[in-house]
Order: sequence, then C-alpha cells, then structure tokens
Amino acid sequence: MKVIKFGGSSLASATQLKKVFKIVQSDPERRFVVVSAPGKRNAEDTKVTDALIKYYKEYTSGQDVSASQDWIINRYQDMADELGFDAKSIAKIAKSIRELASLPIEDNDFLYDAFLAAGEDNNAKLIAEYFTHQGLSARYIHPKKAGIFVSAEPGNARILSSSYDRIEELRNSDEVLVIPGFFGVTEDNQICTFSRGGSDITGSIIAAGVKADLYENFTDVDGIFAAHPGIIHNPHSIKELTYREMRELAYAGFSVLHDEALLPAYRGRIPLVIKNTNNPDHPGTRIVLKHTGETCPVVGIAADDDFVSINTSKYLMNREVGFGRKLLQVLEDLNIRWEHMPTGIDDLSLVLRSRELTPIKEEEILRQLNHSLEVDKAEIEHDLSIIMIVGENMKNHVGVAATATAALSERNINLAMISQGASEVSVIFVVKTEQRNQALQALYDAFFRN
Ligand code: ASP
Repeated sequence: MKVIKFGGSSLASATQLKKVFKIVQSDPERRFVVVSAPGKRNAEDTKVTDALIKYYKEYTSGQDVSASQDWIINRYQDMADELGFDAKSIAKIAKSIRELASLPIEDNDFLYDAFLAAGEDNNAKLIAEYFTHQGLSARYIHPKKAGIFVSAEPGNARILSSSYDRIEELRNSDEVLVIPGFFGVTEDNQICTFSRGGSDITGSIIAAGVKADLYENFTDVDGIFAAHPGIIHNPHSIKELTYREMRELAYAGFSVLHDEALLPAYRGRIPLVIKNTNNPDHPGTRIVLKHTGETCPVVGIAADDDFVSINTSKYLMNREVGFGRKLLQVLEDLNIRWEHMPTGIDDLSLVLRSRELTPIKEEEILRQLNHSLEVDKAEIEHDLSIIMIVGENMKNHVGVAATATAALSERNINLAMISQGASEVSVIFVVKTEQRNQALQALYDAFFRN
C-alpha cells in the first residue's frame, strides 16, 4: 500500500494532471493521493496559494476581491476545460472560494489558514472528480474526515498523536482517496495549516497513519541531487539516503522536501522515495532507515550561506573553569541561537546564522566578551558559508577529511574552521562565502568525479 503526494508543479495544468493520473493508475497499490494546490505553469505565473494570500489581504483591508476570486476560480475551470470534461465540482469550488469573503475577520485567528487551505482543498475535489471521470474509483476526502487533527497553531500546526488511529481506518477504503495536503482541523473544528510547503507533511502523516509500505513524493526533479545544480553542472541524483543523512543535508539547504515532513515517516519506519512526475521511470531518491547495500562514504555535499563566527582567544582558556558556560550565557541572555562550536587550545568560536544578530547585539556581545570574560581577542567574522560533506558510511572510511582538505587546498581555499560531530555523519567546513562555489566544486570533483 502506497501513499503518493504530488507537489504544485505536478498539478499546475491539464498536461501535468494527465501525467499524474497515469502514475496513479499504473500501480494499484497507490491508494492514497495527497495533493498540493496548483503551482506555477511557467516562470511568470502565480501559485494558487499566493493568489489566495493576495485575496486574503484584499478582503481584510476592505478592497474589491472580485478579480482575485475570478482568477482563482478560473484556474480550476481552465484545468477542467483543458482536460475536456464538464466538472461538476467547479460550481462547488467557485462557491467555496467566494464564501471565504464572508468569514468573520474580527477575532478569527484562523482566517488566513482558511484562505490558504482552499487551494489544496479545491484541487483535491477537482482531481478526485477527474480520476473518477477517467474510470478510476476515487473519492475526495476532507482532512477532518480523514482524521487529521492538529494543534491550534495557525500557520504552524502540528499533528496530534491521537490522529494516527483514526487515519489508520482509511486502510479499509476500497476507493483511491484524494486528500488535500497542507492542513488539518483543530479539535475546535478550525482549519489550521502546517507551515508553507506543508503538503509534504500531510503525505508523511498519512503514510505513517495507514502504515504504508512506501511514501512516494512526486516533484519536478529526478530525486535529490548530490550537490546544488545551480552551482555544480549536471550533478547526479542520489539513489539512496538515510533519514539521518537527509536531515543533515536539509540543514544546509537541501530543500526538495519540507523539513518537518521526515518526522512522521521516520517514526513510522516508512521508506520514502522522491520521484519526478515528468520522468516517472527514473528511480529517484529513496530515503530509508538504513542503507541497503554498499554506499560511498560521502553521499551528498551541501552548502549554505549567511553564517557569522564569533571568535574568542584567551591565554590559558583551557584552564579556566566555566569559560564556555559564561560565553554561552552571553548569547542566551540576548536570545541568540548558535549552531557550531569549533575550538582550539586557547580559542573558541561560535558559528551562527547571521539572522540571529543585529549591530546592537554584536556590540553588546563584544562588550561583554572584552569586559566580563576578559578575553585577549574577540571579533565577529561575517560573510561565511558552510560546506557539509554528508554520509553515514564516513565513519567506516579512513581519509575522508584528508581527501576533502587536500581538494580544498589544491584550489587554494582557506578553511576558516572544520567541525565534525562524534557520530561522524557529516564534516562541516567553514569558508568565506566568496569561495563557496569553488569549494563545492572542489569537493564534488574529489568525491564523485575523480
Ligand atoms: N500550497 C502550499 C504552499 O504553497 C503547501 C504546499 O504546496 O505544500 O506552501
């Protein structure tokens, strides 16, 4: 039994919907279809979710909403027309889009979510009808009926663990169920969405709930590339990743899948595969609990920008009990999160995302380091990037870091810092952002091309 989720680009037009139908129909195990709202048909187009945001803003600021309503309704109508069938659901879709503009504005924390959720909800209705029209026994099901109950956190809902038992009952359905992604209902019956891109989360929840054998996540690329295709020319796509590796890569900018989507499938021990709607015969990338065979020590290389480093030096720092705690206290008092802590004998650096700092906070940190912690040197270094080589199998190989550092030094790339956790799933190199592309290229060539 498989749960299959399609992203917005796979559902943007009739051409795409025909591919989606073929994919679903070609495998009787594909019993649960989770859908996003229609995405962009071309680079200039607007996603239906973004059109709904515009509609929401017009409504809440008292502007005329009719053009937005018509545009959104026409998106669905056009798809039905192009698919060549007289969709009965269009009348219901139009009604539900227009009725959004009669929901109460005052004291309504869930209004924005109700607008946004309409994108996926109506798409699921249309798609279920299209599938039925094509002769597949399929049915739309609202998340409330499906049992997706969530916490009352608008725009950031979390699944309630009590939902899973109800979701499991969906296994008994003998029709293909088409489920709108991205939202659930609170116990008080309010529509509440996950964070943006959250249809992936719904797919993962359903997969865990129905105890699926596989969660297939269809998008518009051949799986997850081993490095960013915008930097590396034609990178290969990864055949198999563990959840652990995926988590590490996602941390540093691998964003094919929503971050939070991994958790329910991981906990439910459901393997996941990322596939391409436009190239469904490509095996894509499987995400598994444990590697199933031989793998290279490094499976992927990620790069992420906008890091800063707070560097401190103090003679005989290692003898001073409590220095680290005091340093971290300075950040905690300013409500600053940090990410990595490389150390030397008398040096300690904290690497953090630059969004954590403001000029005022920087000044205050330096003031406290110099006056309360009495360091010999304190500085804040900007414009840093991290490059991460990731692979669970690294721990069984000697010389991975040596290969990496040799490759970087050959290209004359200065390493500001190196950091590796005890679990040896990844090694992080900190470089100046201006050298990020070169560093990524050097590592990609060293591990995958040479
Ligand atoms: N339509 C929603 C968004 O654009 C959710 C999703 O596509 O997964 O964020």
